[in-house]
Amino acid sequence: MKLGIEGRWALVCAASKGLGKGCAKALVMEGVNVVITARGAEALEATATELRTLNPNVKVVTVAGDITTPEGRAAAVAAAPQIDILINNAGGPPPGDFRNWTRDDWIKAVDGNMLTPIDLIKSVIDGMTSRGFGRIVNITSAAVKAPIDTLGLSNGARSGLTGFVAGLARQPQIASRNVTVNGLLPGPFDTERLQTMIANWAKRDGKTYEELAEGRAKTVPARRFGTADEFGATCAFLCSEHAGYITGQNILMDGGSYPGTF
Ligand code: NAP
Repeated sequence: MKLGIEGRWALVCAASKGLGKGCAKALVMEGVNVVITARGAEALEATATELRTLNPNVKVVTVAGDITTPEGRAAAVAAAPQIDILINNAGGPPPGDFRNWTRDDWIKAVDGNMLTPIDLIKSVIDGMTSRGFGRIVNITSAAVKAPIDTLGLSNGARSGLTGFVAGLARQPQIASRNVTVNGLLPGPFDTERLQTMIANWAKRDGKTYEELAEGRAKTVPARRFGTADEFGATCAFLCSEHAGYITGQNILMDGGSYPGTF
C-alpha cells in the first residue's frame, strides 16, 4: 500500500533514537521530508545520515536542541517550509514515589509531556487546517490506559495531554479539514530507554541483563518486546492519506498486555 504522503514535510521530535527514530525511518521510506530533533548532536547527525541512505530523494534536516524549551521548539518549527505531519515525542519523566516529588518535579513532567506537545500543536494546526491536510501523532505511553504505579509523573502528565487532545481532535473546524490528532501508546519496546531500565533492575536485583529482559518479556502475551520499526510503521499509517477518518484515538501497541476487551 502506498501511503500517499510523498513530498510532505514532517517534524519528528526526539528522533535520534528509539521510537522517534522508528517513526522518522518509516516516514522517510514513504518519501516524506523530515526535520528531526534531539539534544545530542552526534547521534542526531548519525541518524540523519542513516535516513538519507534509506531514501536519498528526501530532505532530512536536523535541529539539535531541547524540545521542551521554547527555543528548541521555535528552531524545530522554523526548520521546515511547512509542517504537514507532527510527531510529538520527548523523554519520559523518571519513576519514583509521589511523596518525594516536589512542585518543580511536577512542573517539569507536565511541561515536557503535556505542555510541549500542546505548544507544538498550536504552532502547526492552523497551517494544517488552511491547507486541508494535517496529521498529528502524540507518542505517549500504555500508562495512559493502564497506569504504572511508579510512573505517576508520566501517568498524570500524559493523561492531561490525552484529555486535551480528545477535545481538540473533535473540533469540527479541525476534523472537517482533514486534520487528525491521535495518540500512539507504546507498551514495552526494545529501545535504549527500556534497555537502560532493564540494566538498572538487573543491577538492583543482582541478576544478569538477559535474565531480567527474558522475565519482563514473558509478562507480555506476545512474549517479546516491540521494535521501533513496528512502531514507526503504525505511526506512518496514521499519517497516511488513508487514515483521514481516524482521529481522537489512542492506539495501544503493547503485544496484548492490556487485559481489557476495549
Ligand atoms: P529512547 O530510546 O531513550 O530515545 C529517546 C530519544 O528522545 C532520543 O533520541 C533522545 O535524544 C530524544 N530526547 C529525549 N529528550 C529530549 C528532549 N527533551 N528534546 C529533544 N529530544 C529528546 O526512548 P524511547 O524508548 O524511544 O521513548 C520515547 C518516548 O516513549 C518516551 O517519552 C518514553 O517515556 C515513551 N515510552 C517508551 C516505552 C518503551 O518501552 N520504549 C514505553 C512507554 C513509553 P537526546 O537524549 O540526545 O535528546
